[in-house]
Amino acid sequence: MNPFEQIRQHITSAAKSLSLSEAEQAALLSANETHRASLSVVLENGPQNFEAFRVQFNNARGPYKGGIRFHPAADLHEVQALAAAMAIKCAVIDVPLGGAKGGVVIDPKQYSAKDLEVIARAYVKEFVPHLGVDKDIPAPDVYTNATIMSWMLDEYESLVGHKEPGMITGKPLALGGSYGRDSATAQGGVHVLLQLLALKQKHHERQRVAIQGFGNAGATLAKLLYDAGFIIVAVSDSQGTLYAKGGLDPHIIDAVKTDKGSVSSLYCTAGVCDTEQMQKDGAVALSPDDIFSVEADIFVPAALDNVLTPETIQKLQAGVILELANNPTTPEADKQLFEQGVTVIPDVLANAGGVTVSYFEWVQNRQQLYWTKEEVAMRLQEKMETAFAAVHQKALEKDISLREAAYQIGVERITAAMRYRGTFM
Ligand code: NAD
Repeated sequence: MNPFEQIRQHITSAAKSLSLSEAEQAALLSANETHRASLSVVLENGPQNFEAFRVQFNNARGPYKGGIRFHPAADLHEVQALAAAMAIKCAVIDVPLGGAKGGVVIDPKQYSAKDLEVIARAYVKEFVPHLGVDKDIPAPDVYTNATIMSWMLDEYESLVGHKEPGMITGKPLALGGSYGRDSATAQGGVHVLLQLLALKQKHHERQRVAIQGFGNAGATLAKLLYDAGFIIVAVSDSQGTLYAKGGLDPHIIDAVKTDKGSVSSLYCTAGVCDTEQMQKDGAVALSPDDIFSVEADIFVPAALDNVLTPETIQKLQAGVILELANNPTTPEADKQLFEQGVTVIPDVLANAGGVTVSYFEWVQNRQQLYWTKEEVAMRLQEKMETAFAAVHQKALEKDISLREAAYQIGVERITAAMRYRGTFM
């Protein structure tokens, strides 16, 4: 099943529970607009073409919103799935935005900053008629960042001939970015996790956490949880897993990863590990997939999609899963986890902090009045806690998973807006 079919399955299940008509279900399951292009650019090594997409899934609740990823494996199904999930996520967190996503099929590690700037500007030139502060607002995603957003904004403003900082979010502060955007996804995850643990009457300071993926989302979460008193027993990246029963210090690991490229390089260089130091620290270096088997109370997928499958969940010992990654759990595994009593905080809620602060950035740009760090942090906490409470309440009332509850809330809110707009007439 491709990722888009997986999301459509979640939407269909929610639509059926809400007894939506066939016409309503059909309208919720397909993208409003799918834009594709071949970006023809002249780079340092000569002319080249890159396949690019912008999928505008649903804008019933407000302008389209969603990141642009630069990835060699980006494809239409993936971008459609992420666009659909964005529409649900914005509705669950209750911000007045719709869902979109963009992608360029490229391995950005193979290109210079100068080439990436040419490609970023070409993307905007191609899709400019579809973008804008009230139309469609992109943001960073996998392998894109604030600098790429600044090039895109500059290109857009040159093309339309006026300043419009709210046409893109995740910008540098100097161009109208918001405080708190960098850590927003992880911080939002911390808020919903703390809410859940409080409801379960579990003291978070004794909770052991294993995190798969040590990038923007995973490393920031590890540091926030460590600072809050959680025990980070394991972290992993594409090259390996580090495990220590007594806990790891993610601040040290982050510095090592930034310097040497992998979490394992805290102890290992070119496959040779300092076993004496590891013994002293009570740590072991394992392979990437060993992250699933470590003893932990909370497991956080923060890297790839579809990593939690019927096979991998058999190894998991955690009773709580916080989905920072998008679409990390297959539908079969999701069903089994619910039956086993494992609580999954779904991606459309767990990682919604990022789009929430993107929304705050857009609001600040529109009103040209900028908030302090504290104001952003307070508003984020309020949004995450309100959304979590609504999802949890619905799950309890209907005896369904948090994912089903979140999708029902999202679908219900989008459908209400579509009905007022006469979409189904
Ligand atoms: P990133 O590229 O910064 O980090 C990804 C990490 O995953 C890297 O450390 C990489 O080494 C690791 N990884 C890759 N293959 C792995 C493997 N086989 N085993 C273990 N680790 C592996 O990306 P990110 O921005 O942190 O995003 C991670 C996930 O979170 C994605 O699914 C993304 O869509 C989702 N997400 C991120 C944000 C955000 O604000 N960054 C917001 C919403 C959702």
